[in-house]
Amino acid sequence: MKIHEYQARQLLAEAGVAVPAFAVADNIPTAVAEAKKLFDAGIKEIVIKGQVDAGGRGKAGFVKLVTNLADAEAAATFMLTNKMVSYQTGPEGLVVRKLLIAAAEQIAKEYYLAITVDRSRRTATLIASAEGGVEIEVVAEKNPAAILKVPLHPILGLQAFQAREVAFQLGFKGKQVGQAVDIMMKIAKVFREKDASLVEINPLVVTPSDEKNPDGRVLALDAKFQFDDNALFRQPAVEKLFDPYEENPAEIRAHEFGLSYVALDGNIGCLVNGAGLAMATMDIVKLHGGEPANFLDVGGSASEEAVTEAFRIILGDPNVKGILVNIFGGIMQCDKIARAIVSSAKTVGFQVPLVVRLEGTNVAAARQILADAAKEIPGMHAATDLTDAARKIVTAVGAVPAAKAG
Ligand code: GDP
Ligand code: MG
Repeated sequence: MKIHEYQARQLLAEAGVAVPAFAVADNIPTAVAEAKKLFDAGIKEIVIKGQVDAGGRGKAGFVKLVTNLADAEAAATFMLTNKMVSYQTGPEGLVVRKLLIAAAEQIAKEYYLAITVDRSRRTATLIASAEGGVEIEVVAEKNPAAILKVPLHPILGLQAFQAREVAFQLGFKGKQVGQAVDIMMKIAKVFREKDASLVEINPLVVTPSDEKNPDGRVLALDAKFQFDDNALFRQPAVEKLFDPYEENPAEIRAHEFGLSYVALDGNIGCLVNGAGLAMATMDIVKLHGGEPANFLDVGGSASEEAVTEAFRIILGDPNVKGILVNIFGGIMQCDKIARAIVSSAKTVGFQVPLVVRLEGTNVAAARQILADAAKEIPGMHAATDLTDAARKIVTAVGAVPAAKAG
């Protein structure tokens, strides 16, 4: 699960990390009013940031520094009326529903700091770089030596000596070292306490030297958290931060019914039980020249109602031009799937061809149910095995435009 920057900043602030104060607005007048408060308080420059769960906002025009109210309004209007498209969003982009408004900080230098899971080392890892602010993926590719990785002890977590070493390697000087170490220790702690899979600060900045802070201040100007979904049951406060607008609505509905659904770009809807079988099904569909429209695993114990919902979700995707049902009944009983097909035909209606391949528990009963209903579901074809099923659905989908014309 991901959260917005403003929520992430809140979590960092609660963890004791130095984060500049901010306001949140979900419409243009509120954004302008918040900007006005800051200008009225004597702030010369403010920053307005679109709140979407993807990076690359700066380059896309969704992080703007403004020095007057007219520019603030223009920035807020742009962000709330355009989709944010960046290297992390895909071409369709994301709608921005909230803005973060804060006094802009002066930046002397930007750094990258994160705690995440290093799967190859099987441990949480601190990642840091003095080349912050920009896309860390680019730094990793062009100059991997500029990225420091420090594995965290599984029980002791990040240790102060490790954090100090990193601070020195990043080039922090004087009082900056203590501040940077403090932030590293705190994000390592919050990472663990909140069951996060990523805590990222990019940029972590040092502000220019001034009278009060001759070494500058070390601040988190951007913040990102991701959480382990499997631990959400013990993180109710984190779960409350979930913003359903950020997820594909069909994926949320599927989740409510205990289905694993991931939308893809193709036109063959797949209804399968078991993640391994789902992947094998997608592979064989592709092998025969088709493109899966989704990954949908109904699992072993889905109810007839949940399977009917699964069909409703697949059929709700306008790109779906055919459906392949591939069930290997172990715990799942084939007759349950067959009854769900019949009830879906009645309640949802199959406007597209349907190829069904069932094997395993109660398959004879299932075949009987489908044979009895065959007249009511004219677009349904039985398949004898997986290859036969893949061939049939690819052929049927290929024939769709002609069938429609007729
Ligand atoms: P991202 O592009 O989505 O990662 O958004 P960021 O919050 O990281 O902002 C992008 C860039 O905008 C940062 O790397 C900074 O250079 C700049 N920026 C963000 N906030 C401020 C600020 O308060 N003051 C100044 N001067 N620059 C900022
Ligand atoms: Mg950033």
